[in-house]
Amino acid sequence: MEEKIPVHEIEDLAPSEVSELDLYQKREKIYTRKIEGTFQKLRLFTGWPLLCGYFFMPWVQWNGRQAVLFDLPARKFHVFSITFWPQDFSMLAWVLAIAAFALFLFTTLFGRVWCGYSCPQTVWTSIFMWIEQKTEGSRNQRIKLDQSPWRLQKFVKKLMKHGLWMGFALFTGFTFVGYFSPVNDLIYDLATFSAPLAAVSWVIFFTLATYINAGWMREQVCMYMCPYARFQSAMFDSNTLIVSYDAKRGEQRGSRKRGEIDRSDHLGDCIDCELCKQVCPTGIDIRDGLQYQCIGCALCVDACNSVMEKMGYAKNLISYTTENKLAGKPGKILRFKVVGYTIALIVMCSLLGFRFFTRTPLQIDIIRDRGQLYFQTSDGRIENSYTLKIINMDQQKHDYTLSASGLEGLEIRGKTSISVNSGEVLVVPVRLSVKTTSLGSANSDIIITVQGENSDKLKTSHTTRFLGPAPSL
Ligand code: SF4
Ligand code: SF4
Repeated sequence: MEEKIPVHEIEDLAPSEVSELDLYQKREKIYTRKIEGTFQKLRLFTGWPLLCGYFFMPWVQWNGRQAVLFDLPARKFHVFSITFWPQDFSMLAWVLAIAAFALFLFTTLFGRVWCGYSCPQTVWTSIFMWIEQKTEGSRNQRIKLDQSPWRLQKFVKKLMKHGLWMGFALFTGFTFVGYFSPVNDLIYDLATFSAPLAAVSWVIFFTLATYINAGWMREQVCMYMCPYARFQSAMFDSNTLIVSYDAKRGEQRGSRKRGEIDRSDHLGDCIDCELCKQVCPTGIDIRDGLQYQCIGCALCVDACNSVMEKMGYAKNLISYTTENKLAGKPGKILRFKVVGYTIALIVMCSLLGFRFFTRTPLQIDIIRDRGQLYFQTSDGRIENSYTLKIINMDQQKHDYTLSASGLEGLEIRGKTSISVNSGEVLVVPVRLSVKTTSLGSANSDIIITVQGENSDKLKTSHTTRFLGPAPSL
């Protein structure tokens, strides 16, 4: 007999049994409590150098120009004494691949330490939170302020907070654009309202992005927008460093008075004060186990340690640990993934180093004159015309010598000695000539070479074609 799936008719339910499920859950605002401790201090050591480096770097000058400048219109990236050209983009790809593998290795060993200590989202959010605490007060004061009706005092505090947030965001946005447009010119142009529309638009864009991300969205960026947060669990194993609550020691949780160590009531070390939850920037309770929202910042470790200290209990009820350690198993540093990532990193760094140190700061492009295939001169020679583009990617001016080979008696008609300034792209018309009798076919491969005078390293060659009449049989 056909079995029927029981269907519960909605009309049969009492109105109290029917409820609506909102697919878009409203974000609950997180009011974090300020905490001090070892890991909070460590965060200062990682966050401040990043912040200072970011804001200071565009102002550093090097040999009369901005030390770090990504000059997109000129398609040149200056990093101190090195200038990268579009021809060097393969190196940029290598650098990105190395950074990705370094992050994989770091994550496998140390979990989300990058997120908790050095990620710009975390660092900028910490600054915004600090501004919030300075203008609106402690956690309890902020909760009260948000619940209170709009009065002058509340308005002034909110205005101050958002004004400072906006100021910091503007400084961030301006600095970011200063990496792509000379910062001294940019500040002058903005101050005199003569900045190009593109520059103004990007400053506004990055200002708003910073204000929204670090001021309003905060942990939402890590939880819903960051792709790294999503795929990094694939790099975790049972020996990866995680922040974890020692449930065996902490449970059964329960409140008690300070200094009360009597365990006759079977209570564990957790006094259920919820301080670990109140300091958490993502608003989770680490006692519920490892969660993807946890960015490994260890603020809950500092918070719990301060509680344990006050209670006279041993520290590290919440601590950096590993799954194996929690299970009482021995830890292992050299694992398959760690060895694999390390080997990949060594190979990639060696290849990049080789590519960098054997790089020739000279590039040539050759375009054949398409207007005329070849030209026969009065002395019976065949001539081809080319346009030669010489790019001097070095930091100094160079004199170069042109030569051509590939056909017997091949000659360059015109200048063979050329000076090119540092960073200059020089376009030179070149005519090559050869006796008709030297042509073995109507289409021959030839090589044009540009060599720096007094330098064997500055040498590059390009193969092109030389056309002429088909030789008679
Ligand atoms: S801070 Fe420590 S003692 Fe307090 S609730 Fe968290 S785990 Fe328990
Ligand atoms: S649970 Fe602890 S380590 Fe994880 S994000 Fe919250 S405070 Fe940081």
